[in-house]
Amino acid sequence: MSAAIEATGLGKRYGRTWALRDCSLSIPAGHVVGLVGPNGAGKTTLLSLAVGLATPTTGRVRVAGGIAAGSAAALDAVAFVAQEAALYRNLSVADMLRAGRCLNRRWDDRRARGRLADLGIPLRRKVGALSGGQRSQVALTLALAKIPELLILDEPLAALDPVARHDFMAALMTAVSEDGVSVVFSSHVVAELERVCDHVVVVHGGRIQVAGEADDLVAGHHVLTGPAEQADTVADRFPVVQDRRASAQAHLLVRAAHPDAPPGWQRHPVGLEELVLAYMREPSAAVLPGPRSAPGERMARR
Ligand code: ADP
Repeated sequence: MSAAIEATGLGKRYGRTWALRDCSLSIPAGHVVGLVGPNGAGKTTLLSLAVGLATPTTGRVRVAGGIAAGSAAALDAVAFVAQEAALYRNLSVADMLRAGRCLNRRWDDRRARGRLADLGIPLRRKVGALSGGQRSQVALTLALAKIPELLILDEPLAALDPVARHDFMAALMTAVSEDGVSVVFSSHVVAELERVCDHVVVVHGGRIQVAGEADDLVAGHHVLTGPAEQADTVADRFPVVQDRRASAQAHLLVRAAHPDAPPGWQRHPVGLEELVLAYMREPSAAVLPGPRSAPGERMARR
């Protein structure tokens, strides 16, 4: 299957800080992919490298089925919505459309106008006079008007209220089902991922913690609960992502599809949100893929 984003040994250093390192990963095309991690994790850096707004310190990144990030072909194939929908506030919506038409080789003006009319967004209105939700919808309309193969959005939900957030995600899902565009968006909000994403990539401290299809990740992890005094023995048997112990009870999130719960222990399924949060909280739990690992592959240990 062709990859929406394929990174090999990708790293970016600013001065002494590695914003991203040893990133080898293959994000399949035709999906909605959530790139999640706490603030400062490296999400913007990874997306900027994929869009070609930053150049790698190490490794390489290809987009939309093998095109070098930042090349002329990539500029046609990839649309990018920057954080907080950076638009020119003094321009009208119509001016933004005109600029988009002039700046892009591929442009579907009729569709963009139709979309804005459906949303009830007046073309004459200055961008600065729109609500945050409307601004984000204009940014999405402009991005989709390019007819991209890959749409990359950096924290598109961060500045939106819950209703605008819901409407924005609904618009995104419609675009995916109608146009088959691949979507990769970053977020530090985990709660809505389950409904929207079929793939997730968790990044923390500049490193990929885990990546894969949401259903596979959920099926491949379990929570084991049992007496705390036996926890060390159980933890030795499985790769542990998160280890929580209260005085008498241990709660181990393990990476195993079918862990046999030892006598006196119980096995529970894990939700995507709980799983993602565990990888976001416990970066030291991860043994990370080196440049030679298979894309997306990782191991976990205590
Ligand atoms: P996120 O998008 O997950 O919040 P970023 O990719 O913006 O994280 O940042 C990752 C790390 O790289 C942070 O420690 C940040 O301070 C650092 N960083 C990002 N951009 C720059 C820059 N232009 N100059 C120096 N450090 C940067």
